[in-house]
Amino acid sequence: MKKRLLCALLALSLLTLPGCKRDPEPVEFSTFAMDTMMSFTLYGDKEKCAIARSTIGMILSDYEAALSATREDGGIAKVNRADGQPVELGSPQLLERTLELCEVTGGALDITAYPAVKAWGFTQEEHQVPSPAELAELVEKIDYTAIKLEGDTVTLPAGVEIDLGAVAKGYVGDVLAGQIGLTSALLDLGQSTITAVGAKPDGSPWRVGVVDPARPGACFAVVELEDMAMGTSGGYQRYFEQDGEIYWHILDPDTAAPARSGLASVTVASPSAFLCDGLSTALFVMGLEDGAQFWRDHPELDFEAVFVTETGEIYRTAGLEGRFSLAEGYEDREVKVLE
Ligand code: ADP
Ligand code: MG
Repeated sequence: MKKRLLCALLALSLLTLPGCKRDPEPVEFSTFAMDTMMSFTLYGDKEKCAIARSTIGMILSDYEAALSATREDGGIAKVNRADGQPVELGSPQLLERTLELCEVTGGALDITAYPAVKAWGFTQEEHQVPSPAELAELVEKIDYTAIKLEGDTVTLPAGVEIDLGAVAKGYVGDVLAGQIGLTSALLDLGQSTITAVGAKPDGSPWRVGVVDPARPGACFAVVELEDMAMGTSGGYQRYFEQDGEIYWHILDPDTAAPARSGLASVTVASPSAFLCDGLSTALFVMGLEDGAQFWRDHPELDFEAVFVTETGEIYRTAGLEGRFSLAEGYEDREVKVLE
């Protein structure tokens, strides 16, 4: 009996010794928002986590309404229905920053691709392949420079419609990270858009998997993140098949058709989740060569990238050194480093 008591005391003292502390239990929950399943892992004292959880709920429901192009009451849906008339926005920052990103990516990101996204049936999941004549007409409508943003007021020419789907989740990730009031959390906004707040409670970085586009149930690599976000765009995320051909949801603004750049996925890591989301879409459209050159030309954007080609080749930018590793089962794959 005495022995057992001694053991229990010893175990208790070991647990309280510095260095023997175990991570506290996280608060974990999932919720469906912005058309996808989101999961959250929060560390902190009970009260702070409870406040963070309700903050997350409120921010998601506010932004879901404000940014939706598909919901009847969606803020962007209202802009799209304005038929050439000016519309006042509650907060124009996201549109302003997105237009800058459209410009800096040379139009690889173009939020006026929305009529084409609809024509392919990606908004209502009733897929179809538009005819060449329809595509030619749709291309004419894609031109982000036609959007007029003056102060809080946006005006679209009649027939032009926008969709912030390529950047919305990342933007909301940044908003959440700034407002949850925690120093350690992992915010998984779904479809491979993840924001790491701080490090794990033990001080080590968060380790986030990169999905293998050839086997979307598996991850081929792990990236270590601390106060960083990561986003992946890939043809495997949303697509349909018709007559043996696969058509995905990332469109080339020059053709209004799925972007066929030779890439299967692009992952971007950056302190800004907004940039991760927007740039992963844009680099997917650009392809490997132009995408790598874009990375070299824009050090001020402060991002790194991982490209996977349709033939399964893996490329990563040099800045991921020490933070990128191949996952179990993929150790023998070659990774080419872009300098
Ligand atoms: P997901 O939304 O699945 O995370 P992305 O971030 O890559 O994927 O965004 C793709 C979405 O953005 C599409 O569903 C479509 O609504 C829109 N989109 C498609 N192509 C483009 C493009 N070239 N520029 C801007 N938005 C696009
Ligand atoms: Mg994106």
